[in-house]
Amino acid sequence: MIALCKRPRLLVALFRTANGSPLCFPGPTKAILPRSMDDPTRSAGGQGPGDGHFPFVSEPPAQLRQPMYVPKRLLLGPGPTNASPRVLQAGSLQLLGHLHPEFCQIMDDVRAGIKYALQTDSRWALAVSGTGHAAMEAALGNLLESGERVLIASHGIWGQRASDMADRLGADVHVIKKDAGKYFSLSDIEKGLLENQPVLFFITHGESSTGVLQSLDGIGELCHRHGCLLLVDSVAALGGVPLYMDAQEIDALYTGSQKVLSCPPGPSPIAFSDRAWDKIIKRKSRIPSFYFDMTCLANYWGCDGEARRYHHTGPITSVYMLREGLAGLAEEVARLPTVTTVCVPPNYAWKEVTDYLITKYNIEISGGLGPTAGKVWRIGLMGYNSTAETVDKVLNALQDALTKCRHSKL
Ligand code: PMP
Repeated sequence: MIALCKRPRLLVALFRTANGSPLCFPGPTKAILPRSMDDPTRSAGGQGPGDGHFPFVSEPPAQLRQPMYVPKRLLLGPGPTNASPRVLQAGSLQLLGHLHPEFCQIMDDVRAGIKYALQTDSRWALAVSGTGHAAMEAALGNLLESGERVLIASHGIWGQRASDMADRLGADVHVIKKDAGKYFSLSDIEKGLLENQPVLFFITHGESSTGVLQSLDGIGELCHRHGCLLLVDSVAALGGVPLYMDAQEIDALYTGSQKVLSCPPGPSPIAFSDRAWDKIIKRKSRIPSFYFDMTCLANYWGCDGEARRYHHTGPITSVYMLREGLAGLAEEVARLPTVTTVCVPPNYAWKEVTDYLITKYNIEISGGLGPTAGKVWRIGLMGYNSTAETVDKVLNALQDALTKCRHSKL
């Protein structure tokens, strides 16, 4: 006798043996069920065959009957940072199928956003379904074959992590080190390349364990001169500091979603140059991971121009959110750190405010110029004046000026 036991998203066939005792597939068999499903004294509230519930062995966890508690918190660590409202809104949208044309269009949008964020024209740009570590593992696993030599620049924890992963992949791992707080010069790197002759050089752009920014200028060119590829970890830097994947001759680069992109930890953007892609497709051995096989992922993400094939179920909602995070970055106007423009609000005469500041506080700020004339104030913060005290001083003075110079009608 067969009864169908229906749970949301699962149809479970329940079989009864000749003596009427139930067997249940998949799941625990009669042998480990504490009580017969026919037992009227079972406590879990009317659960049994045909009533729409699967007979779990243990009681449901009491805490799951409570509402989830998520405090409102300002996240100012090195990541995750708070997700932006548009990202959170995208997270509440209904699911699509992972190969539906509308979802494929969203994946295309994400690829365009990644190419923009990384400043690359490479077609081999996509998001790996996993956080920064997944992208790191994917990059190393695709670019390295067992026994190949990799040189890792280690100036904090992320170089150590890359060494660990490369070692697990069977690569011949060599390391150049700097103390915490230091960065590598081009001559440090060239010395390492000459001494070690690697096929791949790894470096971390933003070392989040020490807070050091590693300049990438010239490293790609140096690597190529010495016959090796350049792999960059920009999880903690991308979007926050200038990065030009093509112009800086970077062969492979990955980042994370939960930092500057203001998304939850999730799919991680990654891209490869044609040079790096060539190495991947000419490998002698198979890519060691199925899940991170870039050739399959490139097909699923529509990079290779072929019909998309199922590889794994894309994290639909996280991809929506990544799209919105990348859209936020694309919409941001690059701002000069040395000159800040502030829009003159309604009911103020810009000149009255600048005059007030100079008369009362001896502080000079400027009005707009050319297309911004009459519309903005320009506040310079550079060189000797770039201190927190100066910022406080000008903000306090401006606050006073805005209180005093407001007109009810202008
Ligand atoms: N690289 C760097 C520079 C990072 O800062 C981080 C995360 N702090 C990672 C890699 C790993 O990323 P995840 O924790 O998202 O796996």
